[in-house]
Amino acid sequence: MKKFALAGNPNAGKTTLFNALTGATAHVGNWPGVTVDKREGLYKKLPEPISIIDLPGIYSLSPYTPEEVISRNFILKEHPDCVINIVDATNLERNLYLTTQLLEIDVPVVVALNMMDEVKKSGVEIDVKVLEEKIGLPVVSISALHTDGVDELMRRAFEASKTKRKGKTVLENTELVHLIGDCKIALDGLGVEDSLFHAVKLVEMDELEVAAHPQPTKVVEEFKKTFKDDTFGTDFDAIVADARYKHITKHYTLAVKKAVQHGKDKNTKSDKADKVITHKIWGIPIFLAIMFVVFHLTFSENFLFLGGLLENWTSLEGTAFEGLFGDGSLASPGVVLFNLLDVATFSFIDWANGALTTLGASEWAIGLLCDGILGGLAGVLSFLPQILVLFLLFSILEDSGYMARVAFILDRLFRKFGLSGRAVMPMIMGFGCSVPAMVNTRTLLDQKERTATIRVIPFFSCGAKLPILTAISGAIVMRFGVGNADVITYSMYVIGIVTAIVSVILMRSTSMKGDVTPFIMELPTYRKPQAVSLLLHVWDKLKHFLEKAFTIILASTVVIWFVSHFNWNWQFLTDENIDQSILAGLGSLIVPLFTPLGFGSQLTSWAWVFGVAAITGLIAKENVIATFGTLAACIVSGFVEVEEGVSSVVALIDATSITIPALLAFIAFNMTTIPCFAAVATAKLESPNSKTFRNTLLFWLATSYIVSMMVYVIGTWWWTAFIFVAIWTIVFVLIHLHTKGLIFKKKAL
Ligand code: GDP
Ligand code: MG
Repeated sequence: MKKFALAGNPNAGKTTLFNALTGATAHVGNWPGVTVDKREGLYKKLPEPISIIDLPGIYSLSPYTPEEVISRNFILKEHPDCVINIVDATNLERNLYLTTQLLEIDVPVVVALNMMDEVKKSGVEIDVKVLEEKIGLPVVSISALHTDGVDELMRRAFEASKTKRKGKTVLENTELVHLIGDCKIALDGLGVEDSLFHAVKLVEMDELEVAAHPQPTKVVEEFKKTFKDDTFGTDFDAIVADARYKHITKHYTLAVKKAVQHGKDKNTKSDKADKVITHKIWGIPIFLAIMFVVFHLTFSENFLFLGGLLENWTSLEGTAFEGLFGDGSLASPGVVLFNLLDVATFSFIDWANGALTTLGASEWAIGLLCDGILGGLAGVLSFLPQILVLFLLFSILEDSGYMARVAFILDRLFRKFGLSGRAVMPMIMGFGCSVPAMVNTRTLLDQKERTATIRVIPFFSCGAKLPILTAISGAIVMRFGVGNADVITYSMYVIGIVTAIVSVILMRSTSMKGDVTPFIMELPTYRKPQAVSLLLHVWDKLKHFLEKAFTIILASTVVIWFVSHFNWNWQFLTDENIDQSILAGLGSLIVPLFTPLGFGSQLTSWAWVFGVAAITGLIAKENVIATFGTLAACIVSGFVEVEEGVSSVVALIDATSITIPALLAFIAFNMTTIPCFAAVATAKLESPNSKTFRNTLLFWLATSYIVSMMVYVIGTWWWTAFIFVAIWTIVFVLIHLHTKGLIFKKKAL
């Protein structure tokens, strides 16, 4: 089968094109570095199916980071039948820099001028014919987003793939042309493929190249002795780069006609916005405020803090939808959707229960189905609307280009802690799911910086942890009548972020010292988020969530129900007696461990439920609330009513007399402890060795214990805050002295 590779600068639209060609739903983001591994799919609209490979974004073929090496190696070693060089036409000159390098490889290349919709809008015209002639490659204008021209592109690529192409260079008129020629001859003599490309890289003294072909390197070194350029001295790398850009401006730019000055206007508008948004001081408060708005829209029961002003309008008293728009005050869109689903699931479970009873199903069958399975699943699924609203809002921020700014703002701050701005993207991705986020850390050069980042990614609370936060904060508001659900969830997210920052500082100044990866990033232009792309994101999330709910979570709830309804002699226990179950027995063993965290031995009864829930969370974080749902259905004994997320926590609060600080500590524990199986497996894969991985697990356990204890202890006795401040001050002073080399000196070897 023929293989076509998509290569281009980060953010040029490769993944969008990949999705358009293959019907895949790979993650697209308006920031560089979203794709860090290659991805394959099939294009079926040609006489034969074509395998399409989406490569990580690259600015040049002199690789710098591991994911750039992936792209270079793929093109050179696997020799695709055609390289589709996707070019952001709104940024033509910079994007064609890579094209001038692809040109040197003996592989068919087709240039796809992407984002033509935007180019047209800005009143710029690009003469494709002229460009084609000047570059000497087929050029096709497309809009990957609107799937305009993509079939034509594939047709041209298919045509091109039929004939072999010999590489050529744009460096013909430079002083280095003879040296390149000599190197090429030497490489040809050695039987090296793509000799022209390698010859140019040798002249640039590219590290990989020098290591691979040490012999011809001598030719370059000899030449250096006799050569001196007025501007660049003997820095051949710079001379080559300069020549490429000069060639681009001299020849290729002829194809661009700016009709009106529209394009300029847009840029200055964007620049003006960035003056405020990425401001040195205001950037971070603006970020925090935007995040708060996101949480407010998703979780608030008191939307816009209107209080009871709209009571008459929202209560819908006496109708089937009573309380849909809030109870006393207006609810946020997230909560309205939540309520809507709640009405639906509740009626469904009620109906299922009635139906089973009429059919004469046995008590345990009804229990398993209604309490165990439906109770557990409903507890988790009920949060789906809020998860989707949150991700829709995140996607809007991402697609608009704002998240890329966040990376830029935070780079300044992170650098002080020993982290590169490149670490920000994986962290933000962590809000969605730790697994791709951990893979994304491949953009970090320094291994220790990577490890430190992987370790703190789970502290950026993922979508699966959201039900824990929402259910518990909802229950606190409902049962104790204090606070706002959105403020509580937001604060818990902030605690996670603060934990991450503190951990990074500690690690980077002790066991994980190392260089900080340089971070050069151009800010993508602000784009209006596209409905297609947003829906794709949300759909992806929904699909993943449902798949998980009906496999792993469903299976877990069944297991939980069985081990909680049978004792060691395999006798069926009724709801009132599940305290004697296998699960309760095992759970009680670990209860004392949680005493310093507030959800251990001090609870009057049912203390084991919390420990057990935390452990089932190691399989998938949604399990925590699913377990609550399954078990709470038994606690509220005597009647078979399904306990959904929030109300199951309320039932547990009443049964255990757990306190608010302990509930918050429980959230904090789950947010910072060992993440789910999938994330642990990924962390293992991305760890340099098993010792580092083992330490990562220990790190998660220790962190969750400390953070959770602090939340509980300070929450219960506020003045203990001073003790912790004192302890942390001492820790940081010691570390500061250590980094200055004043104490704990390492013995010289
Ligand atoms: P990659 O980094 O090269 O994989 O780029 P992506 O496919 O993730 O796209 C980067 C951004 O450009 C996303 O916000 C896309 O929605 C947007 N984008 C991609 N293609 C087009 C296009 O043809 N027109 C417009 N207006 N936007 C596009
Ligand atoms: Mg991509």
